[in-house]
Amino acid sequence: MKNGTSVAEPNRMQPVHPVFRFAPSPNGYLHLGHAYSALLNDTMARGAGGQLLLRMEDIDRARCREDYSAAIEEDLRWLGVEWAVPVRRQSDHFGYYGAILEGLVSRDLAFPCFCTRGSIQAAVAARPGWPSDPDGAPCYPGTCKALSRAERASQIAAGRRAAYRLDMAAVLAVLRGPLDWLELGESNGHPRLVAAEPALWGDALIARKDVPTSYHLAVVADDAAQAVTDVVRGLDLFAATGLQRLLQALLGFPAPRYRHHRLILDEAGQKLSKSRQAPSLR
Ligand code: GLU
Repeated sequence: MKNGTSVAEPNRMQPVHPVFRFAPSPNGYLHLGHAYSALLNDTMARGAGGQLLLRMEDIDRARCREDYSAAIEEDLRWLGVEWAVPVRRQSDHFGYYGAILEGLVSRDLAFPCFCTRGSIQAAVAARPGWPSDPDGAPCYPGTCKALSRAERASQIAAGRRAAYRLDMAAVLAVLRGPLDWLELGESNGHPRLVAAEPALWGDALIARKDVPTSYHLAVVADDAAQAVTDVVRGLDLFAATGLQRLLQALLGFPAPRYRHHRLILDEAGQKLSKSRQAPSLR
């Protein structure tokens, strides 16, 4: 782990006004699903007399582009969405995420993992019925968890790059009490407490090999740093909230309220996505 070690403490003071955020990844243009989510955030922030923040989730340095970020801002302005400046770019905050990651490693709650997607597939192929996480990836079979400190150090000294994973069993052992979140739903009608099920994610990836964070760690770190009170996002991230609540509890971060909204589907009933070539808003 390179990158700086100083963690700017999140502002833990209760903000006076609700803070919402729209957090696209600038690896393509916005589609109708994004427009729906952005407009819902904008409407809810205005209705609550709160603030809307815009966050570019650009940790994937190979796929995210500055011209997509600019186009996203242009499209949001065209939609009439207004946000408070400055826009937060996750790629500006790798030092902050790296310091959080180091903290988890030093607490023995995360470990370096030298596996590739292929080696994980091969390891689980021999185990029929091996579980997958809610995103459909095989749960981690534990290969690198068994490495000793000396073996880890020698892999790193040999120049092998490590991703980092949560040691889910160790984490669940240190957390006490039930973990849940307040789900307000899309229409605010029926608030309910949802039990988080972080164990479904197994030894979840919290840092990729190329950057000292993963989507889950960066989202949790930023929602805390930006004092976000209300997360409004698609139902496709419902299960991810269980893992993100676990990270919040581990890191002492406050829990926002959540509203997971329905997804815009295409003619085939599939959610719109850049990878399925959903037509862009523009
Ligand atoms: N960056 C994520 C996406 O574009 C959204 C993350 C979130 O809202 O928590 O799907």
